[in-house]
Amino acid sequence: MDLYRSLTGAFAVGLLTTGLLTGPAAAGPAPVTPASPSTRDFGNGPERNQTAATTPEAGAAALRSLEAQPESRWTPRRQGYPRQTELRVYPENPADKAIKLGLIPYHAIAPRLNELQDASDRVSAEVVGRSAGGRDLYLVTVTAPETPAEAARQDRWRALIENNPVAAARDPQLRRSYKTPVWINANIHGDEWEGTDGAMRVIERLASARDTETKRLLSRTRVYLTVTNNPDGRIAGTRANGAGFDINRDHATSSQPESRAVRDVVIATQPVVMLDEHGYTGTTLIEPATPPHGQNYEYDLYIKHALPNALGMEAAIQKLGHAETERADIPFRDYAPGDWDDWPPIFTPMYAIYQGAVGHTVEIPLQVNRAAYESLPVEELRRRSGVNTDVAEATIEAAIGYADSNRASLVAGQIEQFRRGWAGEPSRVVPDGYVEGFGPEDRYNTTFPRAYVIPAGDAQRSPAAAARLVDHLVAHDVRVTRARHPFVLAGRAYRAGSYVVDMHQPKRGLANVMLEDGRDISDLVPQMYDISGWSHRLLWGASVDISRTAAPRVATTPVKVASPTGAVDAPRGRDLALTLRDGADVRAANALLDAGVAVRRTDAATVVVPASARARAAEVAERYGVRFTAAPRGAGGTPFTKPVIAAAAAADELFALREMGFEVRPVSTASLNAGADLTGVDTLVVSSGLTYGQLNPAAKAAVDAVLARGGVVTRGTGGAAFNAAAGLLPATAVAGRGDANGVVAVQNTGPVVGAGSLPTSFVYSPLWFTGTGFTVEQRYAADPLIAGHWLPSDSGANGPDQAAGQASVVSGTTARGGRAVLFGTEPLFRAHPKGLYAQFARALYWTAG
Ligand SMILES: [Zn+2]
Repeated sequence: MDLYRSLTGAFAVGLLTTGLLTGPAAAGPAPVTPASPSTRDFGNGPERNQTAATTPEAGAAALRSLEAQPESRWTPRRQGYPRQTELRVYPENPADKAIKLGLIPYHAIAPRLNELQDASDRVSAEVVGRSAGGRDLYLVTVTAPETPAEAARQDRWRALIENNPVAAARDPQLRRSYKTPVWINANIHGDEWEGTDGAMRVIERLASARDTETKRLLSRTRVYLTVTNNPDGRIAGTRANGAGFDINRDHATSSQPESRAVRDVVIATQPVVMLDEHGYTGTTLIEPATPPHGQNYEYDLYIKHALPNALGMEAAIQKLGHAETERADIPFRDYAPGDWDDWPPIFTPMYAIYQGAVGHTVEIPLQVNRAAYESLPVEELRRRSGVNTDVAEATIEAAIGYADSNRASLVAGQIEQFRRGWAGEPSRVVPDGYVEGFGPEDRYNTTFPRAYVIPAGDAQRSPAAAARLVDHLVAHDVRVTRARHPFVLAGRAYRAGSYVVDMHQPKRGLANVMLEDGRDISDLVPQMYDISGWSHRLLWGASVDISRTAAPRVATTPVKVASPTGAVDAPRGRDLALTLRDGADVRAANALLDAGVAVRRTDAATVVVPASARARAAEVAERYGVRFTAAPRGAGGTPFTKPVIAAAAAADELFALREMGFEVRPVSTASLNAGADLTGVDTLVVSSGLTYGQLNPAAKAAVDAVLARGGVVTRGTGGAAFNAAAGLLPATAVAGRGDANGVVAVQNTGPVVGAGSLPTSFVYSPLWFTGTGFTVEQRYAADPLIAGHWLPSDSGANGPDQAAGQASVVSGTTARGGRAVLFGTEPLFRAHPKGLYAQFARALYWTAG
């Protein structure tokens, strides 16, 4: 083990010095380099900063997913089992990418599940949501039949475990008869197919097996399977869903319907064990993960079962007898810290841990996607898919078996997790050797605050942002209450209507992982697998106070949905002012522009609506939760219209722009060279997929015309390279280390982007700008990294010390007469940092003139 660790460590160092660093003015962001021979999942994928959603189809899909999908939460029906649904059957699609691999195409899943439901009273299927592309997401439940009364009793026990774990622990009937819930999620990455096929095999076996052992298993277990979490990607052979999002990065954000669907499934079913089936890592990979471990877990309860369950799965694949399945990589056992961590709550299994499950990522071994899909002979692809399906099936069967054999301890562990939350017990310090291999490097703890308060009234920076955060927490089963009276907590006075997150609650780990700042973990591990900072408190735009030790003492009401926040606070006959502080404010402004209201702008952050449009303003205030106040008399201002935007940007950026009500035409070097029309475009967004020097003369002329009459907003190294090549602002971009990311402290200094913005931002491959001849809108603070991972390069450059005090966002009038804003931060990253959106919108309005 130690030898292997030191070897992978050396390998990682080698990569760090050769591939990972981005020097000043580098042409593009360096990929986050997989740091051991088998940590390939992320490295294989289109790295976030290089993903350009440049096709109109991707744009259209993003739009569909935003507007054609009313938010409808799945909740289980209250009846017995089976609870069967005749699933809608989709037309046969010969282009489904699963077909070449000999795997089940999406259109064949519903007919097969319908047959299984007809044939077996153990199988229930239902639709728990729709993909971004509008396809049904199935949940299959396999269990022995239950009368409505028996199912209701199971529901009561499940609720008791969460709501009164002390009583649940003492309930002998629960101990005897509560059915062990196990959840299998498959195919969340669309081009990692065989989890679905393995799951279908397990369903088929459990549906028809006549042996007493299976009968007994199903009498005391419920197996839930979301058989494909990403039908769009399964059909198209893509990692992402139809909107271009990696769903397995979306669990803290819930921007996508696929992640919301499984969020609702995990809350409603409360599994004790869950698997998320992925591929392809060469050797089968089975979590538990390396450090850093999420500091909000009850890690002792997790690792106690995660490690033996992983060993059981490894033994199961060894029995398959394939040469490729002789062993598994178990990152906790086999990898160096940081190579495959469980730090951020963005992955399905990590998210599930906070919901009470022992969660595992499983990576099936043999690559059949991307280059292999195109180049390998069909027979070899099908051989590999056969092995992969065997591995998926074997791991699922082993996990179900483990859950059954250890049901008492697993259920007790979930009860204990929720009990510690209710009791507000300190985070446990797990001793060395708690399980084999547990050492100091595995020990992560936190100090839970006593409460968070989301203030109402003047102490709230953005009521719309506060409502969004409250609704987000509640949707994730975090308990939020509303104060019925004014109160004082930790020396601060709060109005009635303020929200309280009392941290004495069963899912305090989830509440805290969203609301805490996070931690600078740069010195703890040499690199990280994905993002390392995400704080909803610091990035979502709402004021959230922390009470470290004092409990709120005020009568409260549980919150199911946040209170309406829209208001028009101005005397009749007065013009109205709206401050663009949040994406919701921008959405409202764009709605007024869409309605043809003669809106003016007095500065980059303030729009003025004529008194005559009061009724319209009241309408959008209610719809988007924003607040209009009285504009100063004679406010004046410049009339403006909604900018027409062309964007060479990543899918998440397009999505976020559309969330704010902008209409965006996706473009790229290729589409512009092919004649994409820029007529009427006011401003360009450039972050990826557009290289100025590669434009043909006609395309260059069209782009130049936009740059002369309107403007450009850039983000990241791709955008900065465009700025340099097109000769716009005389700013030199300096790149921080390519894998650096997290929440940073900033100082807002400029009038366009900076005014009234949050004192925090988010970076991924951070940039800063040097030079003169532009306005500094925002700077990195003296000690910028609040939470995340940001090391200097080996030469000592590219680190947070070099970024300190440097310009993170700049604006100016370009040599061509247009306007430009350059972002070195990531205000739209994966549609997560909602509190930063308005910065980007203000840059768009300003550059559009
Ligand atoms: Zn994957």
